[in-house]
Amino acid sequence: MCGIVGYIGFRNASDFLLDGLHRLEYRGYDSAGIAVFHKGEVAVRKRAGRVCELDRLIETDGVEGTVGIGHTRWATHGETTDVNSHPHVGGNGEVVLVHNGVVENHNSLRTQLQTLGYVFRTTTDTEVIAHLIAHHLEKRIETDGEICTHEACVEVVETAMRKIEGTYGVAVLFRDCPDLIVAARAGSPLVVGIGRGEYFVASDAGPLVGYTEEVVYLADHEIVALTSESIDLLHRDAGKKSPSIQVLDQVAGDTSLGDFEHYMLKEIYEQPQSIENAMRGRFDESEATAMFGGLNLDPQQLRRVDRVVLTACGTSWHAGLVGEYLLEEFARLPTEVEYASELRYRNPPLTDNTMVFAITQSGETADTLAAMRECKRKGHPTLAICNVVGSSIAREADGGIYLHAGPEIGVASTKAFTSQVTVLTLLALYLGRMRHLSYPAGRRMIDQLREMPDKLRKALTCHDAVREVAAKYHGFNNFLYLGRLYNFPVALEGALKMKEISYIHAEGYPAAEMKHGPIALVEEKTPSIFVIPRGGIYPKVMSNLEEVRARCGPVIAIACEGDDTVADLADDVIFVPDVEEYLQPLVTSIPLQLLAYHVALLRDCNVDRPRNLAKSVTVE
Ligand code: GLU
Repeated sequence: MCGIVGYIGFRNASDFLLDGLHRLEYRGYDSAGIAVFHKGEVAVRKRAGRVCELDRLIETDGVEGTVGIGHTRWATHGETTDVNSHPHVGGNGEVVLVHNGVVENHNSLRTQLQTLGYVFRTTTDTEVIAHLIAHHLEKRIETDGEICTHEACVEVVETAMRKIEGTYGVAVLFRDCPDLIVAARAGSPLVVGIGRGEYFVASDAGPLVGYTEEVVYLADHEIVALTSESIDLLHRDAGKKSPSIQVLDQVAGDTSLGDFEHYMLKEIYEQPQSIENAMRGRFDESEATAMFGGLNLDPQQLRRVDRVVLTACGTSWHAGLVGEYLLEEFARLPTEVEYASELRYRNPPLTDNTMVFAITQSGETADTLAAMRECKRKGHPTLAICNVVGSSIAREADGGIYLHAGPEIGVASTKAFTSQVTVLTLLALYLGRMRHLSYPAGRRMIDQLREMPDKLRKALTCHDAVREVAAKYHGFNNFLYLGRLYNFPVALEGALKMKEISYIHAEGYPAAEMKHGPIALVEEKTPSIFVIPRGGIYPKVMSNLEEVRARCGPVIAIACEGDDTVADLADDVIFVPDVEEYLQPLVTSIPLQLLAYHVALLRDCNVDRPRNLAKSVTVE
């Protein structure tokens, strides 16, 4: 699930490659490397660790040249060592490539290539692609007795990639064709940037922003050959094609840290603004409803919808659960939330009028993309709720809603979650007003939503209290997160934040469900975090809290301001503003984000780049 870049033109390639790798680091940061044509050779520089490690290497051992490729890795096969870092070399150095994806048949290909005499230097799946291309190149040169030509290079990439089972985006250099990059994709995204006398390749458009505004998105099984003056595109089966050039509508977002120590903290603090951005221009006051520009379905079609499937992974899946409660309560639409990784291979019966929403921050999540495609294939209107403009999912969906949250850099998602919940609330209002929701009820929702940015500002004032709780509990190794109704997904999300950045075992549960198993974990060293703001079933959650206290489990409560009853019962309490129940996730998630953040800091963890994770999961 790595990031790929490539450059051919007149600039110093390393500069673009390194800049691009920094912009793609959200896709993986196990290792980074570049290969550049330098004094008649392909010089490879690569190193385990983050792109800044590669920067350091290049500072002391740089490579100058105008053609090159680069890679930032999230390892799927083979440890995260220098040698396993991309680029990888095929044959005796005739081929050098970078790869995003997984070669599922790597074992059998490796055996075949070893039998042919190829020597493997790494334990990655990718190296088989490098040797396979080298092997076909050698065969082709032997048969035709010709030297390495551009045409031959494209052809051998095509032949080799036919033998690969799995997913790939590759960018390939040929030692004997120094003025050529060949790139190909199947399942992993690739985009080509078109400049004047130069071309760029990248896994997404991010690295191209500021370099060019014209791009060509490659489709599966397309292969492109780039020189500094030309682009030739062909489809594996359909042959030569003319590239469809699109104008990049992306602008560089604010990726500075400002006064904050970490992106995660900055993004937590951006939430009053980011949820405001998610709502901007989306209220129709006179009709007491919401409005969206990009759903691409007319009201008649939307009225026919009788079931909603929300599909997502990770934090977005938790936002989807809040969405289920909202859509069922306000629009009375039966809603299911599916893990995208399951949905893509399951075959659930979807009725003709089922509407599918894919929820994703990056718009590149491999499983979500695949689940969306599967639903599209079956003829269902498939929409996206997504943050990154122009991302794969945004482009492939029939329509959708952007979050407008700005770049989210911290690997642990914060502001994207609250923006997703905000957009889902607007969607529930919109679909509700087409069905059972009354005009006054719609007006009330709009008024309440408008107050939310201020409520979030107020919620952020819990920061000092959270810091104290973190100081008290950061040495504990197990946490339970408990909540009910709208706060059950919040409990799941709180536990996920804690796991992701503090490496502490944490479980989120519906508070009442705890009695069916997890209560066995309760003891003095297992704190339970109760998300217990006021609401219809407050007394029920209170009973669950008492059950934990009766077993000597420490209780940390996230409660409404002024709730002395909870304050008296809990060992520690963090207050949030009192809001309507359906809006509570927007405020109750804030102390949980801050708690994970402070516990991680106290445990000396890398808050923005936690181990083993990547911001966007672009392999299945
Ligand atoms: N499978 C390759 C590796 O583990 C590429 C992984 C990726 O796409 O990040 O090196």
